[in-house]
Amino acid sequence: RAKSAGGNRYETADPEADARAITRHGLTTALPAALERGEFFIEYQPLVDMCDGKVHGAEALVRWCHPQHGVLGPDQFIPLAEHTGLIIPLGRWVLQEAVRQARYWQEHHADLGPVRINVNLSPTQLQHPGLVKETVAVLEGSGLAPGSLCLEVTESALIGADEGLLRPLRQLAELGVDIALDDFGTGYSNLANLRRLPVSILKLDRSFTKGMQHLPVDPVDLKIVEGIVSLAHSLELAVTVEGVETGAQADQLRELGCDTAQGWYYARPGPPEKLHALSLADAV
Ligand code: C2E
Ligand code: MG
Ligand code: MG
Ligand code: MG
Repeated sequence: RAKSAGGNRYETADPEADARAITRHGLTTALPAALERGEFFIEYQPLVDMCDGKVHGAEALVRWCHPQHGVLGPDQFIPLAEHTGLIIPLGRWVLQEAVRQARYWQEHHADLGPVRINVNLSPTQLQHPGLVKETVAVLEGSGLAPGSLCLEVTESALIGADEGLLRPLRQLAELGVDIALDDFGTGYSNLANLRRLPVSILKLDRSFTKGMQHLPVDPVDLKIVEGIVSLAHSLELAVTVEGVETGAQADQLRELGCDTAQGWYYARPGPPEKLHALSLADAV
């Protein structure tokens, strides 16, 4: 209970909320030093071609190895990094590191084929004036072809986006970088708006595929996914599905025409070496 006059004014009725706030504050202030100390690392999750079952790329997913709290997932610190602006140097580091890794795979693991790399961009990064220049510099510095990079932007980040916000994405797309619309279906999807966006890939959110984990699948779920896939294809967008956890889901989604899949059924996110082993085993 909050004490009135004289007591500790910051004491509140909810000690758990206080603890969370303290942790959040601690994490927020620790972020810049964490980047300097190299406490962030990237896990890679394979992207699998649904036609031939081959790995053709990976999504870079950042983690923080915190000295006290252990490994933290992006949901625990990306919002804080967004809030404080640290997302700009952190995002730059992720891009640099992921692009370097992709180039390494291409040069030293020809058996993987022409690996592509997907990197997430947060709304703040999207608005950062240096985005295009820095991305081009990273690509040129590593020798990775623009066509081997895919930047993932969430649907919600682009809701109501004006031309000013879309311009950098358009410029990157013109250079050959793929832009994917991430978490598609979770935002307030304006399907007509899709035509206006410089995206070439639609990533169907896990919430759509959840219902397909076990048979029988709800026929309405099937109809919805079928509709989205056919709309995407008619707009010449490729469809990637997130969160494929079972073989039944994979079969169903392949039948519905999805192009690429990602999920625990194929592989959990892991260290880059894990992808080498996968290529030899051929994912599925
Ligand atoms: P996302 O881009 O939608 O990434 C997919 C998330 O789903 C990842 O969570 C991944 O580990 C998880 N996932 C993949 N397959 C499955 C599955 O079969 N089942 C289930 N239940 N989950 C699966 P993660 O790694 O915790 O990342 C969460 C979000 O954090 C990402 O969502 C992305 O929006 C953001 N994020 C990750 N790395 C970065 C980054 O470097 N920069 C920015 N700005 N955001 C990032
Ligand atoms: Mg993503
Ligand atoms: Mg996603
Ligand atoms: Mg997601």
